[in-house]
Amino acid sequence: MDTKDKIKVMLDSLQAFYPAASLELNYSSAFELLIAVILSAQCTDARVNQVTQILFKKYKSPQDYIEVDLEELENDIRPSGFYRNKAKLIRGCCETLIRDYESEVPVNIQDMISLPGVGRKTAAMVLGNASAVQQGIAVDTHVKRVVQRLGISPHVEVDKIEQNLMRLVHPEKWTFFSNATILFGRNICQSRKPRCSECPFKDWCPSPDKTI
Ligand code: SF4
Repeated sequence: MDTKDKIKVMLDSLQAFYPAASLELNYSSAFELLIAVILSAQCTDARVNQVTQILFKKYKSPQDYIEVDLEELENDIRPSGFYRNKAKLIRGCCETLIRDYESEVPVNIQDMISLPGVGRKTAAMVLGNASAVQQGIAVDTHVKRVVQRLGISPHVEVDKIEQNLMRLVHPEKWTFFSNATILFGRNICQSRKPRCSECPFKDWCPSPDKTI
């Protein structure tokens, strides 16, 4: 099966498995999603949702994150881990949003990646899910693992994997592809023990990690 066929089969199956694939992070605006994605580094979505349930009631705008003492912000996000670094990133983003973007999250990927600590993964995730702007494919650890196991991209660098995928997947499906592959990676093609007996790709998956 060539790579184009693999992507077609993959999209068909993902569509059947996860027809309305979305992120598992809670948010009500692009700004909230940006904060949630920053907090999700090295943290589960469930834990981030616990933190943001309280956080988003207290902090409504970039200005709110700037005005509070850094220690207080650190304390408010502490359960998400790496809270000192995350607090600095959030403050840096908020300062840039206020200074350069009238406190609004920009709606193109070049402006998004100008925000401190925001790479293409975060930018594509926020744009695709909160603003319905599809200018990239968010390649997180799950997307990277799944496409590598399926032999879809020969690369190890996420930027190169994204470029591969952007050539193979129709732009209208970029956000769906990323969201659904993340769910597939979490639920089926898990890192340590992939559940290959339940996998629709088991007959042709070339991965040495296959468990059947
Ligand atoms: S067969 Fe196993 S390793 Fe291959 S994609 Fe499916 S779950 Fe992942």
